[in-house]
Amino acid sequence: MIVSDIKELIGKTPIFQFLATDYGGESQSRIYAKLEYLNPGGSIKDRLGSYLISEAVAAGRITKDTTVIEPTAGNTGIGLALAGLAYGLDMLFVIPETFSQEKQQLIKALGARIIHSPSQEGMQGAIRKAKFLADQLPNFFLPLQFENEQNPAAYYRTLGPEIVQEIPERIDSFVAGVGSGGTFAGTGEYLKSIDSTIRLIAVEPEGSILNGGPAHEHAIEGIGVEERPIFFKSLMPDSIETISDPEGFYYTRLLAARHGLLVGSSSGAAFAAAIRESKRLPKGSTIVTIFPDSGDRYLSKNIYGQLEEA
Ligand code: PMP
Repeated sequence: MIVSDIKELIGKTPIFQFLATDYGGESQSRIYAKLEYLNPGGSIKDRLGSYLISEAVAAGRITKDTTVIEPTAGNTGIGLALAGLAYGLDMLFVIPETFSQEKQQLIKALGARIIHSPSQEGMQGAIRKAKFLADQLPNFFLPLQFENEQNPAAYYRTLGPEIVQEIPERIDSFVAGVGSGGTFAGTGEYLKSIDSTIRLIAVEPEGSILNGGPAHEHAIEGIGVEERPIFFKSLMPDSIETISDPEGFYYTRLLAARHGLLVGSSSGAAFAAAIRESKRLPKGSTIVTIFPDSGDRYLSKNIYGQLEEA
């Protein structure tokens, strides 16, 4: 494949197949993982960045002088910065201070600027600060992935159709981590529109509130919420799986050591939840999950280390 525009490398990611029996699941059941970490910016958010920028350009919301400003844990910043390169846009991202340093370096490598928000205020603090900064700018575009319907739409248009085309069997369950909720809601809604009986399983780390638990810090990065995502209003999960840090990191390490899949901790959490689901469903079931980003952006946080039982 020969390309001359980085955006052509976004999407159409490969799929990895696991046999559920290798992980205590039912016989003839399969877990398929869409390897979103193989996007050019290393995460699923390349899809979102590309979609948001091209829609904004088409709608005339962006000119050469526009500053794109967005609160992000990092991956959306990388995706937006990649997509913005072709337009020479000024990009400014608000990131909680202690979030992955590697992601912050990647954002800078793409020519974007970073402003920090206090880590103890989480993503809500970054959102508040981005809104405040946008108010000071004469010409800004603030996509606000946490409330912008174009976030789930990006996955409804790309990831959902790819999964349906590429998975050879009928899909019983779709399992996805929830940060903004865009991946879960957009892909889930598309899959339901094809087959309304599909089960939609949301994944959160312990310390996230979807299952009623108290909000607290967690080491699994990229998923977890302090408030219910607004995208859940039109689409409720059939089940919510809460994964502890040790369990999520155990599977993150196992994916690397056993399969060579160098993914981040939200992928380990998604895999842990997919395994739970495979134990619940009858034999011969098909489960699809998402591995959202690569692990090399968390190396300074020691995400791999030794593979020890959770
Ligand atoms: N995994 C990682 C590593 C992420 O950065 C994100 C986005 N914050 C997600 C999963 C969740 O994606 P979404 O925002 O679409 O819910």
